[in-house]
Amino acid sequence: MKFLILKITNNCNLRCIYCYREDNNGKIDMDFKTAKNAIDYILKDDNNLKIQFTGGEPLLNFKLIEKVINYCMDHYPDRSISYAIQTNGTLLEENIIKRIKELKLNVGVSVDTLNPKDSTLRPYMDGRSSTLDTIRGIYLLRNNDLPFGITTVVTNKNLPYLLDLLNYLISLGIRSISFDILKPKRREHLALMPDEDEFKSLLEKMKDFPIYIKNLVGRPKDKYCYLNSGDLLFVNEVGNIYPCPTLEGYFYGGNINNMDDSIKLFKVKCSYCFARDYLIKKFK
Ligand code: SF4
Repeated sequence: MKFLILKITNNCNLRCIYCYREDNNGKIDMDFKTAKNAIDYILKDDNNLKIQFTGGEPLLNFKLIEKVINYCMDHYPDRSISYAIQTNGTLLEENIIKRIKELKLNVGVSVDTLNPKDSTLRPYMDGRSSTLDTIRGIYLLRNNDLPFGITTVVTNKNLPYLLDLLNYLISLGIRSISFDILKPKRREHLALMPDEDEFKSLLEKMKDFPIYIKNLVGRPKDKYCYLNSGDLLFVNEVGNIYPCPTLEGYFYGGNINNMDDSIKLFKVKCSYCFARDYLIKKFK
């Protein structure tokens, strides 16, 4: 299985305090040619592919998602391709959810807090809290019987409230969650780093909760993530290749629109998040 992450836009309607995006790259959307080149490159040698659409906020470039899926269905009908989107949930509406269902897109929603007044972690550009709009999006998904997973970035701001968040999500019938400990992309992010021991003891308390918690499922020693097996291709909105979304801006691997055979997928030997360790060392 190969994993293709397409950052289909750098644009976003939120301004999360720890965002990995390079804000000064402007509101660029990926064009179809770039997405097609990435897909053709991977499917040259492989049959199994998972495509993840990310951003910025990928719903801001939904038309490209539709075009990419139609292209794959028309040009690679014999390949096993699955599609996923990671969204902040604030732009979910009935009509989009209907299309997501038709396109068989797997959905992941990013939620860090239930605090309706939160203007620290994930505010809109004007400083308003986005929490209630994300929760409204979650209700819409649930009411349309569209299963989805949750991703929560753990900082020292929301660590004390994670149990409440989890209980609430379970009460909504959510079945899976992944806690991502913050990866400091800029020096100021270090001030948000959570106490890892506190987080680990919290995970211990969560182990019998009726929900799939990705962090509690051991990962194979030699495969912490797709980078380990050289099965990950991350392409940003202008076609640049980097090891993974977190390391966008580091270890440039060429551009998908002027590919020659010298370009190889990254492969790193490790049993933990190599990116996170690299960034902490860089800024500490
Ligand atoms: S929703 Fe994602 S892309 Fe948008 S600001 Fe937050 S972390 Fe960044």
